[in-house]
Amino acid sequence: MTDALHILATNLRKAREQWSYLPRTLGLVWQATHGWTAAWFTLLAAQGLLPVAMVYLTRPLVDAILAAARSHGASALVRHALLLAGAVATILLLMEILRSLTVWVRTAQSELLQDHIRELIHRKSIEADMAFYDSAEFHDHLHRARTDGYYRCTALLECLGSLAQNGLALVAMAALLISFGFWLPLALIASTLPALYVVIRYNLRQHQWRMRHTGEERRADYFGRILTRAESAAEIRLFGLGDHFRQAYRALRLKLRNEAIDLAKGQSFAELAAGVLALAISGVALIWVFFRAMRGLFSLGEVALFYQAFQQGLRLASTLLENVGQLYVNSLFLGNLFAFLLLEPHIKDPVKPQPAPDRLTEGITFSDVTFRYPETERAALQNFNLNIPAGSVAAIVGPNGSGKSTLVKLLCRFYDPEAGRIAIDGIDIRDLQLSELRRTLSVLFQEPVRYNETALDNIAFGDIDTEVSHAQIRAAVEAAGSADVIAKLPRGYESLLGKTFADGCELSVGEWQRVALARAFLRQAPILILDEPTSAMDPWAEAEWLERLRSSSAGRTVLLITHRLTTAMRADMIYVVAHGRLVESGSHDELLAGAGLYADSWAAQQGCLPA
Ligand code: ADP
Ligand code: MG
Repeated sequence: MTDALHILATNLRKAREQWSYLPRTLGLVWQATHGWTAAWFTLLAAQGLLPVAMVYLTRPLVDAILAAARSHGASALVRHALLLAGAVATILLLMEILRSLTVWVRTAQSELLQDHIRELIHRKSIEADMAFYDSAEFHDHLHRARTDGYYRCTALLECLGSLAQNGLALVAMAALLISFGFWLPLALIASTLPALYVVIRYNLRQHQWRMRHTGEERRADYFGRILTRAESAAEIRLFGLGDHFRQAYRALRLKLRNEAIDLAKGQSFAELAAGVLALAISGVALIWVFFRAMRGLFSLGEVALFYQAFQQGLRLASTLLENVGQLYVNSLFLGNLFAFLLLEPHIKDPVKPQPAPDRLTEGITFSDVTFRYPETERAALQNFNLNIPAGSVAAIVGPNGSGKSTLVKLLCRFYDPEAGRIAIDGIDIRDLQLSELRRTLSVLFQEPVRYNETALDNIAFGDIDTEVSHAQIRAAVEAAGSADVIAKLPRGYESLLGKTFADGCELSVGEWQRVALARAFLRQAPILILDEPTSAMDPWAEAEWLERLRSSSAGRTVLLITHRLTTAMRADMIYVVAHGRLVESGSHDELLAGAGLYADSWAAQQGCLPA
């Protein structure tokens, strides 16, 4: 007994905590839909009261029909009965009209709400730190916010409406029942308590189960994506991985499904027990009325009224409970949405930002920078020092995984280092407004995005805030050496790239990269960073391209990250990075004379080329 009480107390406490999301949800709903929600509540209130009016008319109607029948057709009595019948018919018609109106209003409301929530999620996703994307927890949050946010909010709204409607009706029914005996409404309420307990307990369990299994759900989703996405289609076929992933998906789903079914089984048995208890209570009430009617204490109309009111009361009470349960579970899941929306980025604008330089005069410095990716032990950069003079073309070379791309991410302030300082023209980048810092940089990322938009947009995205002329686009395309890529397209700049949408043209990996390069060139930022720009480029195209880079980037500071030494050799300065540290720097000739890592790699790369 004490155990049961303890469980009840814990559940009620948890339940109370969870209700705290309710006001926030309502605020969200109101913000997104106000007029529609007001209309909807009015409709619901009317719909809650009409059935009561119906039940209320039952007694006079039945009694009037009886009186008319007994009077053998006395016209006044017949007219009275007909009038009452007319009123009942009007109510029925009104109920139909309201029902249809509600469907329309509810659709509008839920569409508005869904888009509003999507908008919030999108906004949050953009503003989140890059570091969030490195954490499984963030992906869990995002997954739950995305899968639950939209429909839980609409569902919650629906429950709430239903709750208001049924609650109102129930109160009115209870008022009717009081006239038969004050204990009847109490019996009605008592009959619902066991069910309330079951509802809360199981919904809480369901939610806890869901929280525990988000990782597995995402993994199943992931297998599903591997099987259906274009990017994996080639390998799935060639390596024959289809069955492997199908089985993995099935096994995971089987486990999740069985657990969900088990949970549902437990819930339905508990609900059954609660239902039987409720039936017993209502049985007692019915027997009581039956005996009183036998003793002539109630008229036939009254018995009909009682039967209807009690029957409806029971139905309302059970629907009400269902609503409470759903309201509860939906607000639990909406907690996920709010948890996501409340994630705070750590990388923020400074309180007193410094103006960002339009042109570099000193250069870029990394002083004693140490950085670890979130949730990793190993430092990607360790006491890293680098000084790139303004206006120079600097090459950064080094083996895979040595930390080259990490430098770019830190310079963009996607992450902050744990120690050390990164400065542009002597200004710590943490003292610059994020948007301004990012406007001083133009970056060709190692894996540029393939926007499934027109070729023109793919390039213009490099400078979305300015009205760029066609001449500027063409200049960027020339500088990137992508003119022939565009020339090949069926509708030139207007061609849609990628295969996701109708009439899209797919490009080769190297061609996509050239388009991305033009995008990077378009932005007239003082610092241009190119991360492996020639990786998908033919060696003969590369030499010509480098010459063009020099002439088109005059006055800008260029960081050229590459593992190809034939690219690096043309830079003003070469910095060799290994294991997260700067190990050598100098011009090509100086480094060759130094007989270090660069000289060794040079010898190895030359050995690969035909003599
Ligand atoms: P590269 O010199 O080839 O560009 P990177 O700078 O991309 O190398 O990576 C340096 C090291 O940091 C690698 O060992 C890599 O495993 C690790 N790393 C890169 N990105 C992440 C990340 N998002 N989370 C954790 N570790 C990362
Ligand atoms: Mg890299």
